[in-house]
Amino acid sequence: MNSADHETDVVVIGAGQAGLSAAYFLRRAGLRNESGFVVLDHGKRAGGAWQYRWPSLVLGKVHGLHDLPGMALGSPDTSRPASEVVSEYFDRFERTYDLPVHRPVDVVSVSKGDDDRLIVAGPAESWAARAVISATGTWDRPFWPHYPGQETFAGRQLHTADYLGVEDFRDQRVIVVGGGTSAVQQLIEIATVARETTWATRRPPVFREEPFSEDWGRNAVAKVEQAVREGRPPASVVSVTDLAWTPETRAAEAAGILDRKPMFERITPRGVVWADGSEQPADVILWATGFRAAIDHLAPLHVREPGGGIRMDGTRVVAEPRLHLVGYGPSASTIGANRAGRTAVHELTGLLSLP
Ligand SMILES: Cc1cc2nc3c(=O)[nH]c(=O)nc-3n(C[C@H](O)[C@H](O)[C@H](O)COP(=O)(O)OP(=O)(O)OC[C@H]3O[C@@H](n4cnc5c(N)ncnc54)[C@H](O)[C@@H]3O)c2cc1C
Repeated sequence: MNSADHETDVVVIGAGQAGLSAAYFLRRAGLRNESGFVVLDHGKRAGGAWQYRWPSLVLGKVHGLHDLPGMALGSPDTSRPASEVVSEYFDRFERTYDLPVHRPVDVVSVSKGDDDRLIVAGPAESWAARAVISATGTWDRPFWPHYPGQETFAGRQLHTADYLGVEDFRDQRVIVVGGGTSAVQQLIEIATVARETTWATRRPPVFREEPFSEDWGRNAVAKVEQAVREGRPPASVVSVTDLAWTPETRAAEAAGILDRKPMFERITPRGVVWADGSEQPADVILWATGFRAAIDHLAPLHVREPGGGIRMDGTRVVAEPRLHLVGYGPSASTIGANRAGRTAVHELTGLLSLP
């Protein structure tokens, strides 16, 4: 016997694009609310991680949002913050399909129950499930690389995830670290108010002439796919997506804002030291260094390989077939998350003997 508070066939953890897609296909497979499946999400409202994205990230600046299954996003005003538009869209989706989303529920662990169930536990309640779809994204695990002297820096250090807009950077000397789209967008914004900006990246950034397309996306996904098949920790799809030349990036290039430097060697209380030994003073270091998969709640299942990754076959975890990861690794994009939700449910219909 399990001592969980509730029993259900499937628990979906996370109500972002991936979790909602899975929920939609579970509903279509005939599972009913609560006894069939529940969605547990620790956000305050609908929107997945999009609700936390900075207000200046307007819809017109994102790479492209793929529709959730069964409901088009439509053509919202591209000058509105993506955080608002997506939250409204996800909210509409949850209500239209009457999805049993419980929030805020912070899932702290998934473990093996006494019988054939997995136990999904939050701080106050637990669920015994025949299968779990974990769709927890990456936003909760901002990645901070470590550089010598980092803890001695007397200025401010923050991560993309903490970025709220340019006002905090007015008249400051700012170093932006990171070679992805977020780094470039934030750098360009900050340069409008900062005393000085410097851009540092590990690898030389790659800019493309053509606008972002599904082809680019496919390329980025392929780079990540192999890693998870081999059980290596995946880089995020976003982090391996090249940068785009746009009117904005071109103007920034012309203004010298995109004059990228290779990474500094160490950090001092006053700034950073470059490879040639010269020190550059700074008031702020913004780490636009990406995110990792938020999978700490899976620790009791011991599914991680020695290198820290999880070996996957599609969306199924090889070491625990009752567990599927969607929005993980190669499916960490809105289009990938959609497909992964469908794949996971398709596979689980066999395990759960659903029609
Ligand atoms: C800055 C930025 C810009 C991006 N732009 C694009 C873009 O333009 N196009 C694109 O396709 N992709 C983009 N991405 C990638 C994007 O993250 C994915 O496309 C997609 O939105 C991720 O969906 P998801 O459902 O996997 O994750 P999320 O949207 O992160 O949803 C995960 C959900 O799980 C919940 N959760 C997490 N941990 C727990 C827990 N322990 N218990 C309960 N709930 C939990 C969270 O609250 C959240 O609601 C971007 C990513 C970033 C960081």
